[in-house]
Amino acid sequence: MDGKVILVGAGPGDPGLLTEKGKKAIAQAEVVVYDRLVSPAILSLMPESAEQIDVGKEASHHKVPQHEINRILLEKAQAGKRVVRLKGGDPFLFGRGGEELELLSEAGIPFEVVPGVTSALSVPAYAGIPVTHRDFCSSLHIITGHAKAGAKLTIDFEALKRTGGTLVFLMGVTALPAICQGLLDAGMEAEMPAAVIERGTTPRQRKRISTLGALPQAAAEAKIESPAIIVVGKVCTLSEKFDWFDALPLKGREIVVTRPRERMGVLSEKLRALGAAVTEYPCIETVERAENPALDQAMDHLAQYRYLVFTSPAGPEIFMKRLLARGQDARALAGLKIAAIGPKTAHVLMRFGLKADLVPAVYDSDHLAKAMAEVAGPVLLCRASRGSDALPKIFSARGIPFDDIPCYDTRYETPDAAAILPLLARDTLVTFTSASTVEGFVKSLPGVDLSHVLGVCIGEKTAEKARGYGIAVRVAREATIESLINCIKEV
Ligand code: SAH
Repeated sequence: MDGKVILVGAGPGDPGLLTEKGKKAIAQAEVVVYDRLVSPAILSLMPESAEQIDVGKEASHHKVPQHEINRILLEKAQAGKRVVRLKGGDPFLFGRGGEELELLSEAGIPFEVVPGVTSALSVPAYAGIPVTHRDFCSSLHIITGHAKAGAKLTIDFEALKRTGGTLVFLMGVTALPAICQGLLDAGMEAEMPAAVIERGTTPRQRKRISTLGALPQAAAEAKIESPAIIVVGKVCTLSEKFDWFDALPLKGREIVVTRPRERMGVLSEKLRALGAAVTEYPCIETVERAENPALDQAMDHLAQYRYLVFTSPAGPEIFMKRLLARGQDARALAGLKIAAIGPKTAHVLMRFGLKADLVPAVYDSDHLAKAMAEVAGPVLLCRASRGSDALPKIFSARGIPFDDIPCYDTRYETPDAAAILPLLARDTLVTFTSASTVEGFVKSLPGVDLSHVLGVCIGEKTAEKARGYGIAVRVAREATIESLINCIKEV
């Protein structure tokens, strides 16, 4: 394949602000070259097979010099690779995107540009500041506050003042006092509303709304650090009224999500949408059994069963995949009744055109077992290899014949513990959606003090396991993701 470079804007931090096109480019990349400002949630979209090159820049010294970055892009593309150059915000706004294309263009390497949501507009938006407003201004100016090493700022403050427009300064934290002084010297009134917003659009966003005269002190007191943007203009007065982001119910709350990687997305996304700072920490993984003679045999004789039982969403997914691969389809289940442990499992069944006949009132194996105590057998139970013994017990006690077939194994992963250690040292919420996630979590952190952890558990079984390890718990009212989230909101 011919090499190519795609310059992708990753947006300001909130992973939801990455464009569809950017996401697709990352998913198809063979090499990703990325910067410091790209958020971890976006970096996690890089395919595992892709070569990942961090050229993150530090404030005053460049980690990897620009000419070196240009060379990396050229060489990888010349080697026939599909290269994504991932940059914070928009690649062409103070992003040196242009410089990086220079060499490629000279060498005749094909390239594309995927614009990104720039921090200059989105960070004020997340701080409740519309950058223009008909009552206040009729222009917007985006200015770099970065001076070349050792040099003075070369900003025409008089010209900026004359525009009467909103001023947005990027890379201006170090120069903040000089910027404000420059505008004051140019005749702008000290009472002009002004704001500084740090780590905008992320759960760790902080803002200070002040005036031009008082902003340097306000920022110093709050210890505002880079990346931050400065906004000067009357629109800043709207910040409080339009403050939607800081008002989110879980804004800034640190939450560790421990689901298996393939099921992580929904919970993380919902928590992030509520403003939480989510760290994904997959400690288990469900692995389909490649060879499964017992299941094949059951599938050869489906008509002999009366009930088919699934105890997790992975069950019907794996079962139906195998059935279809064998050349059968949903009609093979025509005479069977189906039980699902909860609504999510029932939902997966529905995707295959199958409606669950039985879902217990409480979504755990004990209640499923009770609900099934009166059914007529034989039962085909498709579940994890290390499942709860509630179902087999009740079937045996009631003389209901059953086949308990392991369809997948739960494996413990070895996630990067270093990433969450600082969180565990202070009060942190950790979500547990099954007893095995508790087990995986504890196993991955040998010797770590878990006394600051509050485990938010999907059900009683999970909570029991966590308590067994001395973890304080809260339990969701219902074993659903929605209920788990409500439980977090109440903490
Ligand atoms: N191309 C980027 C800007 C790169 S310059 C864009 O379009 O957003 C880097 C500067 O952008 C930082 O110094 C800071 O001023 C600003 N910036 C980027 N992300 C930010 C964020 N999440 N919050 C506040 N400022 C941010």
